[in-house]
Amino acid sequence: MAAKIIDAHVHLSERRDDALIRFARINGLSYNMNELLGTMRRCKVKNGLLLSPPLQGTTALPNEQVIRLCRRSDGILAPVVTVEPSMKEVKAALKLAEENPGEVKAFKVRLGYVKASADSPVFDELYDYAESKRLPVLFHTGDTAFSTGDLARSHPLTLDRLANRREELTIVLCHFGNPWFEDAAELTYKHPNVYADISGLITGDVAYAEKYAAWLARKISEAIYFAGNAEKVIFGTDYPITKHSDALALVRRLEVDERDKEKILSHNAERVFRL
Ligand SMILES: [Zn+2]
Repeated sequence: MAAKIIDAHVHLSERRDDALIRFARINGLSYNMNELLGTMRRCKVKNGLLLSPPLQGTTALPNEQVIRLCRRSDGILAPVVTVEPSMKEVKAALKLAEENPGEVKAFKVRLGYVKASADSPVFDELYDYAESKRLPVLFHTGDTAFSTGDLARSHPLTLDRLANRREELTIVLCHFGNPWFEDAAELTYKHPNVYADISGLITGDVAYAEKYAAWLARKISEAIYFAGNAEKVIFGTDYPITKHSDALALVRRLEVDERDKEKILSHNAERVFRL
Protein backbone atom coordinates (compact mmCIF):
# COMPACT_ATOMS: atom_id res chain seq x y z
CA MET A 1 0.00 0.00 0.00
CA ALA A 2 1.05 3.59 -0.65
CA ALA A 3 3.04 5.36 2.05
CA LYS A 4 1.21 8.68 1.85
CA ILE A 5 -2.46 7.81 1.97
CA ILE A 6 -4.91 10.71 1.73
CA ASP A 7 -8.45 10.43 3.09
CA ALA A 8 -10.51 12.86 1.00
CA HIS A 9 -13.69 12.50 3.05
CA VAL A 10 -13.68 12.76 6.88
CA HIS A 11 -16.33 14.07 9.29
CA LEU A 12 -15.94 15.27 12.88
CA SER A 13 -17.70 17.67 15.22
CA GLU A 14 -17.33 16.50 18.86
CA ARG A 15 -20.91 17.72 19.36
CA ARG A 16 -23.73 15.75 20.92
CA ASP A 17 -26.24 16.78 18.26
CA ASP A 18 -24.05 15.35 15.47
CA ALA A 19 -26.33 13.14 13.36
CA LEU A 20 -23.47 10.77 12.51
CA ILE A 21 -23.11 9.56 16.12
CA ARG A 22 -25.57 6.80 15.20
CA PHE A 23 -23.12 5.46 12.60
CA ALA A 24 -20.16 5.82 14.98
CA ARG A 25 -22.03 3.62 17.50
CA ILE A 26 -22.79 0.96 14.89
CA ASN A 27 -19.07 0.91 14.03
CA GLY A 28 -17.98 0.87 17.69
CA LEU A 29 -16.17 4.21 17.29
CA SER A 30 -15.84 7.01 19.89
CA TYR A 31 -15.83 9.57 17.03
CA ASN A 32 -13.47 12.21 18.42
CA MET A 33 -10.25 13.97 17.39
CA ASN A 34 -7.94 11.70 19.42
CA GLU A 35 -9.39 8.54 17.97
CA LEU A 36 -9.37 9.93 14.43
CA LEU A 37 -5.74 11.14 14.50
CA GLY A 38 -4.57 7.94 16.24
CA THR A 39 -6.27 5.73 13.67
CA MET A 40 -4.92 7.83 10.80
CA ARG A 41 -1.40 7.47 12.17
CA ARG A 42 -1.75 3.70 12.61
CA CYS A 43 -3.20 3.30 9.11
CA LYS A 44 -0.52 5.56 7.56
CA VAL A 45 -3.10 8.08 6.41
CA LYS A 46 -1.05 11.25 6.09
CA ASN A 47 -3.79 13.83 5.56
CA GLY A 48 -7.54 14.13 5.59
CA LEU A 49 -10.10 16.55 4.20
CA LEU A 50 -12.61 17.49 6.89
CA LEU A 51 -16.23 17.96 5.86
CA SER A 52 -19.02 19.28 8.02
CA PRO A 53 -21.19 16.47 9.45
CA PRO A 54 -24.98 16.87 9.45
CA LEU A 55 -26.49 17.93 12.79
CA GLN A 56 -29.85 16.78 14.08
CA GLY A 57 -32.50 18.73 12.19
CA THR A 58 -31.67 19.98 8.71
CA THR A 59 -28.42 21.86 9.23
CA ALA A 60 -24.74 20.93 9.08
CA LEU A 61 -21.87 21.86 11.41
CA PRO A 62 -20.96 25.54 10.80
CA ASN A 63 -17.89 25.90 8.58
CA GLU A 64 -16.09 28.04 11.18
CA GLN A 65 -16.10 25.02 13.48
CA VAL A 66 -14.70 22.79 10.73
CA ILE A 67 -11.82 25.25 10.28
CA ARG A 68 -11.27 25.36 14.05
CA LEU A 69 -11.12 21.55 14.27
CA CYS A 70 -8.58 21.46 11.43
CA ARG A 71 -6.36 23.93 13.30
CA ARG A 72 -6.38 21.56 16.28
CA SER A 73 -5.14 18.68 14.10
CA ASP A 74 -1.47 19.76 13.69
CA GLY A 75 -1.83 20.17 9.96
CA ILE A 76 -3.27 16.67 9.44
CA LEU A 77 -6.80 17.81 8.51
CA ALA A 78 -7.71 20.49 5.97
CA PRO A 79 -11.15 22.07 5.68
CA VAL A 80 -13.78 21.63 2.99
CA VAL A 81 -16.41 24.38 3.15
CA THR A 82 -20.02 23.19 2.93
CA VAL A 83 -22.25 25.46 0.83
CA GLU A 84 -26.00 25.51 1.41
CA PRO A 85 -28.42 26.72 -1.30
CA SER A 86 -29.14 30.35 -0.43
CA MET A 87 -27.52 33.58 -1.63
CA LYS A 88 -26.59 34.39 1.96
CA GLU A 89 -24.96 31.01 2.60
CA VAL A 90 -23.10 31.08 -0.73
CA LYS A 91 -21.70 34.54 0.03
CA ALA A 92 -20.69 33.49 3.57
CA ALA A 93 -18.91 30.38 2.25
CA LEU A 94 -16.97 32.36 -0.36
CA LYS A 95 -16.00 34.95 2.23
CA LEU A 96 -14.67 32.21 4.50
CA ALA A 97 -12.61 30.72 1.65
CA GLU A 98 -11.31 34.18 0.78
CA GLU A 99 -10.29 34.81 4.41
CA ASN A 100 -8.48 31.48 4.70
CA PRO A 101 -6.48 31.24 1.48
CA GLY A 102 -4.49 28.07 1.05
CA GLU A 103 -6.30 26.47 3.96
CA VAL A 104 -9.68 25.70 2.36
CA LYS A 105 -9.13 22.83 -0.12
CA ALA A 106 -12.61 22.43 -1.63
CA PHE A 107 -16.33 23.11 -1.33
CA LYS A 108 -19.13 20.64 -0.70
CA VAL A 109 -22.77 20.66 -1.78
CA ARG A 110 -25.10 18.33 0.08
CA LEU A 111 -27.22 17.04 -2.79
CA GLY A 112 -30.15 14.99 -1.56
CA TYR A 113 -30.15 16.75 1.81
CA VAL A 114 -30.89 20.29 0.63
CA LYS A 115 -33.70 21.61 -1.53
CA ALA A 116 -31.66 22.37 -4.64
CA SER A 117 -30.11 20.55 -7.57
CA ALA A 118 -26.48 20.80 -8.67
CA ASP A 119 -27.35 23.10 -11.58
CA SER A 120 -29.54 25.44 -9.51
CA PRO A 121 -28.60 29.10 -10.30
CA VAL A 122 -28.14 29.74 -6.57
CA PHE A 123 -24.74 28.01 -6.87
CA ASP A 124 -23.53 29.99 -9.92
CA GLU A 125 -21.40 32.35 -7.85
CA LEU A 126 -19.87 29.39 -6.01
CA TYR A 127 -18.95 27.68 -9.29
CA ASP A 128 -17.48 30.90 -10.73
CA TYR A 129 -15.31 31.28 -7.64
CA ALA A 130 -14.32 27.60 -7.50
CA GLU A 131 -13.27 27.73 -11.17
CA SER A 132 -11.26 30.90 -10.72
CA LYS A 133 -9.40 29.52 -7.68
CA ARG A 134 -9.18 25.97 -9.08
CA LEU A 135 -10.92 24.61 -5.98
CA PRO A 136 -12.88 21.36 -6.51
CA VAL A 137 -16.55 21.09 -5.55
CA LEU A 138 -17.61 17.85 -3.87
CA PHE A 139 -21.19 16.69 -4.30
CA HIS A 140 -22.95 14.16 -2.18
CA THR A 141 -24.31 11.63 -4.68
CA GLY A 142 -26.54 8.57 -4.36
CA ASP A 143 -27.95 7.03 -1.22
CA THR A 144 -28.61 9.41 1.67
CA ALA A 145 -27.79 8.67 5.33
CA PHE A 146 -31.43 9.32 6.31
CA SER A 147 -34.67 8.02 4.80
CA THR A 148 -35.85 11.60 4.18
CA GLY A 149 -33.18 12.22 1.50
CA ASP A 150 -34.12 13.30 -2.05
CA LEU A 151 -32.63 10.75 -4.46
CA ALA A 152 -33.89 12.58 -7.57
CA ARG A 153 -31.49 15.39 -6.62
CA SER A 154 -28.60 13.21 -5.45
CA HIS A 155 -28.52 10.94 -8.51
CA PRO A 156 -25.07 11.18 -10.15
CA LEU A 157 -26.54 11.87 -13.60
CA THR A 158 -27.80 15.25 -12.32
CA LEU A 159 -24.16 16.37 -12.51
CA ASP A 160 -23.87 15.78 -16.25
CA ARG A 161 -25.57 19.01 -17.23
CA LEU A 162 -23.37 21.00 -14.83
CA ALA A 163 -20.21 19.33 -16.13
CA ASN A 164 -21.29 20.11 -19.71
CA ARG A 165 -21.76 23.75 -18.85
CA ARG A 166 -18.61 24.09 -16.76
CA GLU A 167 -15.61 22.32 -18.20
CA GLU A 168 -13.26 24.28 -15.92
CA LEU A 169 -14.98 23.19 -12.72
CA THR A 170 -13.46 20.20 -10.92
CA ILE A 171 -16.34 18.03 -9.73
CA VAL A 172 -16.05 15.17 -7.23
CA LEU A 173 -18.94 12.73 -6.89
CA CYS A 174 -18.92 11.49 -3.30
CA HIS A 175 -19.69 7.79 -2.64
CA PHE A 176 -19.31 6.92 -6.34
CA GLY A 177 -23.03 7.63 -6.82
CA ASN A 178 -23.88 4.55 -4.69
CA PRO A 179 -25.69 2.43 -5.87
CA TRP A 180 -25.44 3.99 -9.36
CA PHE A 181 -21.80 3.04 -9.82
CA GLU A 182 -22.10 2.71 -13.60
CA ASP A 183 -23.65 6.15 -13.96
CA ALA A 184 -20.84 7.65 -11.89
CA ALA A 185 -18.27 5.71 -13.96
CA GLU A 186 -19.77 7.11 -17.17
CA LEU A 187 -19.50 10.67 -15.82
CA THR A 188 -15.84 10.23 -14.88
CA TYR A 189 -15.19 8.68 -18.30
CA LYS A 190 -17.07 11.34 -20.26
CA HIS A 191 -15.85 14.45 -18.47
CA PRO A 192 -12.13 15.21 -17.97
CA ASN A 193 -13.05 17.30 -14.90
CA VAL A 194 -15.22 14.75 -13.02
CA TYR A 195 -13.86 12.48 -10.27
CA ALA A 196 -15.48 10.09 -7.79
CA ASP A 197 -14.62 9.13 -4.22
CA ILE A 198 -15.22 5.67 -2.74
CA SER A 199 -16.08 6.87 0.78
CA GLY A 200 -18.93 5.79 3.02
CA LEU A 201 -19.87 2.57 1.23
CA ILE A 202 -19.58 0.19 4.20
CA THR A 203 -21.18 0.51 7.66
CA GLY A 204 -21.01 -2.04 10.49
CA ASP A 205 -20.95 -5.78 10.34
CA VAL A 206 -24.30 -6.70 8.81
CA ALA A 207 -25.64 -9.90 7.27
CA TYR A 208 -23.90 -10.71 3.96
CA ALA A 209 -21.13 -8.20 4.85
CA GLU A 210 -18.54 -10.40 3.16
CA LYS A 211 -20.62 -10.82 -0.01
CA TYR A 212 -21.38 -7.11 -0.05
CA ALA A 213 -17.69 -6.17 0.27
CA ALA A 214 -16.89 -8.47 -2.66
CA TRP A 215 -19.76 -7.01 -4.72
CA LEU A 216 -18.57 -3.49 -3.95
CA ALA A 217 -14.98 -4.25 -4.93
CA ARG A 218 -16.26 -5.73 -8.19
CA LYS A 219 -18.39 -2.65 -8.95
CA ILE A 220 -15.48 -0.24 -8.37
CA SER A 221 -13.06 -2.46 -10.28
CA GLU A 222 -15.47 -2.65 -13.23
CA ALA A 223 -15.84 1.15 -13.20
CA ILE A 224 -12.04 1.33 -13.55
CA TYR A 225 -12.05 -1.18 -16.45
CA PHE A 226 -14.81 0.84 -18.12
CA ALA A 227 -12.88 4.11 -17.79
CA GLY A 228 -9.68 2.33 -18.87
CA ASN A 229 -7.73 3.80 -15.96
CA ALA A 230 -7.87 4.66 -12.24
CA GLU A 231 -7.05 8.37 -12.60
CA LYS A 232 -10.50 9.49 -11.47
CA VAL A 233 -11.01 7.37 -8.35
CA ILE A 234 -10.25 8.96 -4.97
CA PHE A 235 -9.93 7.24 -1.58
CA GLY A 236 -12.05 8.38 1.37
CA THR A 237 -13.47 6.79 4.50
CA ASP A 238 -16.43 9.03 5.40
CA TYR A 239 -15.37 8.45 9.05
CA PRO A 240 -17.36 7.65 11.22
CA ILE A 241 -19.71 6.09 8.63
CA THR A 242 -17.00 3.70 7.40
CA LYS A 243 -14.12 2.47 9.54
CA HIS A 244 -10.58 3.02 8.23
CA SER A 245 -9.94 -0.73 8.23
CA ASP A 246 -13.02 -1.41 6.05
CA ALA A 247 -12.26 1.46 3.64
CA LEU A 248 -8.65 0.33 3.20
CA ALA A 249 -9.72 -3.31 2.81
CA LEU A 250 -11.99 -2.22 -0.06
CA VAL A 251 -9.00 -0.76 -1.94
CA ARG A 252 -6.95 -3.88 -1.21
CA ARG A 253 -9.72 -6.02 -2.73
CA LEU A 254 -9.86 -4.11 -6.02
CA GLU A 255 -8.70 -6.22 -8.93
CA VAL A 256 -6.42 -3.59 -10.41
CA ASP A 257 -2.65 -3.02 -10.56
CA GLU A 258 -0.83 -1.99 -7.39
CA ARG A 259 0.15 1.25 -9.13
CA ASP A 260 -3.52 2.04 -9.67
CA LYS A 261 -4.21 1.40 -5.98
CA GLU A 262 -1.52 3.97 -5.15
CA LYS A 263 -3.20 6.47 -7.46
CA ILE A 264 -6.51 5.88 -5.68
CA LEU A 265 -5.00 6.11 -2.20
CA SER A 266 -2.73 9.05 -2.78
CA HIS A 267 -1.71 10.52 -6.14
CA ASN A 268 -5.18 11.37 -7.49
CA ALA A 269 -6.14 13.32 -4.38
CA GLU A 270 -2.75 15.09 -4.31
CA ARG A 271 -3.34 16.26 -7.86
CA VAL A 272 -7.04 17.18 -7.57
CA PHE A 273 -6.82 18.98 -4.21
CA ARG A 274 -3.26 20.26 -4.79
CA LEU A 275 -2.02 18.87 -1.45
ZN1 LIG B 1 -19.78 12.25 4.11
